[in-house]
Amino acid sequence: MSAPSSSHRATNPDPTAAWRAVKGRIAAAEVAAGRAPGAVTLVAVSKQQPWEAIAPVFAAGQRCFGENRVQEASGRWTDLKAATPDLELRLIGPLQSNKAREAVALFDVIETLDREKLAGALADAIQKEGRAPRLYIEVNTGEEPQKAGTLPAEADAFIALARETYGLTVEGLMCIPPAGEPAFPHFALLKAIADRNGLQKLSMGMSADFETAIRFGATLVRVGSAVFGERHGQHAVV
Ligand SMILES: *Cc1c(COP(=O)(O)O)cnc(C)c1O
Repeated sequence: MSAPSSSHRATNPDPTAAWRAVKGRIAAAEVAAGRAPGAVTLVAVSKQQPWEAIAPVFAAGQRCFGENRVQEASGRWTDLKAATPDLELRLIGPLQSNKAREAVALFDVIETLDREKLAGALADAIQKEGRAPRLYIEVNTGEEPQKAGTLPAEADAFIALARETYGLTVEGLMCIPPAGEPAFPHFALLKAIADRNGLQKLSMGMSADFETAIRFGATLVRVGSAVFGERHGQHAVV
């Protein structure tokens, strides 16, 4: 499975064992937080990972994967998707409006709706493709200028706009807290915005902090490196 000649070998020698360990930690965090068993879904973030790292985890039964680029995801998953009805692909990276149609055709869930232009492009693409991915609104909880996401103060209005003006069904919220500071205030903020807008699904928590996110109400955790190992070119992209 991992040919010695591959230049893109996973740094994690046993992704399946790491995957099982992460699933065990999620189950333990559910219990510790008084959440129902199975309340939290693991999104295995396969972006920028070599197929040798992903294949064994897929073979072991993982069916929900997160990708941050339409192109990369399309190349990797299109054929498998046709052959695997229960495969769920989630777009967790920024989406350009001009890629909306391609994203709508491929992904089951788009987690990064964050601006009016994209809401319009998605509504249009959904109509043209006859296919409606479930949508999450990304909130820039840290108000970081370089980061995507609607600002917390504008989130309620944006959720209403997406629903009412563009007729989109919003399933939940997503956030990526700023690096290098405690994540829990961001998780708490996202939960508060979700609660007051009647949203049950919260995509929050990554390798370094998914147990904390579960304590604060995450229903989906997006875990990449703790399962697959360090990414190829990890430091070039968020
Ligand atoms: C890369 C990425 C992740 C996974 O990060 P890890 O720290 O490797 O678990 C989760 N969410 C988003 C949006 C990402 O871009």
